[in-house]
Amino acid sequence: MPGYDQRDGVIWFNGELIPWADAKVHLLTHALHYGSAVFEGMRAYDGEIFKLTEHSQRLLHSAEILDFELPYSVAELDKAAREVIAANRLTDAYIRPLAWRGSEQMGVAAQKTRINVAIAAWEWGAYFDPAARENGMKLTFAKYRRPDPMTAPVHSKAAGLYMICTVEKNRAEREGFADAVMLDWRGNIAECTGANIFFVKDGTIYTPTADCFLDGITRRTVIALTKQRGWNVVEKRILPEELSGFTECFVTGTAAEVMPVGSVGEYSFKPGEITRTLMDDYAALVRPAKAVAATG
Ligand code: PMP
Repeated sequence: MPGYDQRDGVIWFNGELIPWADAKVHLLTHALHYGSAVFEGMRAYDGEIFKLTEHSQRLLHSAEILDFELPYSVAELDKAAREVIAANRLTDAYIRPLAWRGSEQMGVAAQKTRINVAIAAWEWGAYFDPAARENGMKLTFAKYRRPDPMTAPVHSKAAGLYMICTVEKNRAEREGFADAVMLDWRGNIAECTGANIFFVKDGTIYTPTADCFLDGITRRTVIALTKQRGWNVVEKRILPEELSGFTECFVTGTAAEVMPVGSVGEYSFKPGEITRTLMDDYAALVRPAKAVAATG
């Protein structure tokens, strides 16, 4: 498989569709040196991008938090993302919008840099090994913690916030785990390196309050699905030692979708009815045509 810089297809780059291999930036790009980049991750199912507008809105919001204004509106970003999947003839795809400061100015100050926006898309299968869908993934605890909102732009999907995620995800994989659960700066359970986390006890669903990490679009979607089922969802601070009281655990994310967890460190879980139902409900929601075909 060629590297991600050497594929076929086109990339939307500052308003134009250009050949994939031509979508380049210079070494002296501000974003590369100072982390001035924000991004999104979306999935298309049967040709439709799930929650497209929410993702475009979040990209604009993430950029605003980092003090840059994107030169495109939500409607323009939505249109561009649709153009990318159509031009690449993709129906089931992962879509990656990215906005970054360019090379017009070097140094911490960046007022004169151009704000660039690009959108790439490619076929991307399951984020986590589908073999774990039956009994759940094995997770470990991360050493790094999600930072205090006073010390980092925690509600922005900012590239720089992922440096500790990459360190932890690499370490987890090297040690035979699928991912790492990060605590927040206070020591509460926060999220995984690229997905939010949920637990179940006595028919109630619990998830950490998203006050210092990404309130995922999938997290919000799954909360809505649980409410539709009439189940009780509680957002609260969850301490690691409380994990012994939960029977089910799952993670949510655009790339990850809904995936069951079998263990986090020494704590074990068993994917049960709630996890399985939410996996199915989410799968049906992202592919409405298929769900109608199955019932109709
Ligand atoms: N947390 C982190 C750190 C993530 O990278 C992601 C994936 N974007 C999520 C949570 C889940 O967010 P979403 O459901 O919006 O994809």
